[in-house]
Amino acid sequence: MKIESHVLSKGYNPEWSEGSVKSPIFMSSTFVFRNAQEGKRFFEIAYGKVTQEPTEQLGLIYSRLNNPNMQILEERLALLEETEDAAVFESGMAAISTVMLTHLRPGDVLLFSNPIYGGTHHFIHHFLTSIGVIVRSIGVLETSDEIMKTLREEGLSDKVKMIYVETPANPTNTLFDLADLGRLKDVLQRECEHPVFYVVDNTYLGPIWQKPMVFGADLVCYSATKFLNGHSDIIAGAVMGKTEHVSAVKGLRTFLGSMMSPHTAWVLTRSLETLYLRMNRQGENAFKVYEFLKGQPQISRVLFPGQSDDARQRRIYAEQCLGAGAMISFEVRGGEKAAFAVLDALKMIKLAVSLGSNESLAQHPFTMTHADVPDDEKNNLGLTEGLIRLSVGIEHPDDIIEDLRQALEAIV
Ligand SMILES: *Cc1c(COP(=O)(O)O)cnc(C)c1O
Repeated sequence: MKIESHVLSKGYNPEWSEGSVKSPIFMSSTFVFRNAQEGKRFFEIAYGKVTQEPTEQLGLIYSRLNNPNMQILEERLALLEETEDAAVFESGMAAISTVMLTHLRPGDVLLFSNPIYGGTHHFIHHFLTSIGVIVRSIGVLETSDEIMKTLREEGLSDKVKMIYVETPANPTNTLFDLADLGRLKDVLQRECEHPVFYVVDNTYLGPIWQKPMVFGADLVCYSATKFLNGHSDIIAGAVMGKTEHVSAVKGLRTFLGSMMSPHTAWVLTRSLETLYLRMNRQGENAFKVYEFLKGQPQISRVLFPGQSDDARQRRIYAEQCLGAGAMISFEVRGGEKAAFAVLDALKMIKLAVSLGSNESLAQHPFTMTHADVPDDEKNNLGLTEGLIRLSVGIEHPDDIIEDLRQALEAIV
């Protein structure tokens, strides 16, 4: 079966629930063991006191460890990412912070791509540094050889524990080279005595348009609030990868208690049924919107993956992306005043942060999602005061374009 067919049924059998075609919501905190011996075995496995038989599944114990709704969803997410396992969380930030805390200890080095999602930026700079993790950012133009050279000069090359990358970068849509960073991981692994983890935040293009595991990623993180759910009605997160890597993250999730609730899992499982329909429509719409925007006199730049003037960016796009996605940033002439005039004149497209949902959303990164980034850093990244970030939804493309056309006329 193709993934888009299998995702409708994987992990659930109607016989478990009175023939119900769809899974019910298992609103239960705890689960009955058939006998005491079974309870003992489940705990031995859950606490890693014995190794699980290859065919043996961890039985249900308590909903902080697992729950049928979480389990169905995790099987479907692993299917979509074409990997072995998934762990789900009550938010994208819970997924990302749990992954980082699973592996990072005082004195370890974290390499991360810059720019990066604001919440991740804050967690790295304010929390991880406060517990003694050494953090170093990677710029878009840096190659693995250059990064290695700098790390060796600083005496940090044998201390790197994690490479954390987000691509395309928000809000400029700049692409990081996943294959080159995979090579960096391999070189670092030869110098380090501990395992080096390569983690990719795939919220913008995954799981359909970018497959980081093909380029050597160990774990793929998501804000499932965005495309995966796509209806702006829940906050959710997920991590996918090989069983050994995901199990380590689930181990800490159990004790931080950052797991997903049965209700959130049920809503997200339902949303995944239309993931391909939604994302494909959003991608088609985005391309039409891009074509419209690039011809408008009020606009100085349109940032859309694969359409860069830079040859290296176009090569990375060709090698690692299966589609451009549905996020477009564009710069209007006239700075904040002009950008605000456009945002305030939109009639159908909503003025709100977040992205990937079925309705189109627009916002002003300079003063909203990236308000916390210092102004000179924003200007270096090309994150200017005239920039508007647009998340293209599933509406009729003519309506999205017409709304943008009339809003652009509000610039005086
Ligand atoms: C939204 C987002 C996050 C954070 O996810 P939440 O679900 O809001 O906690 C992380 N990374 C990226 C790229 C995002 O867009």
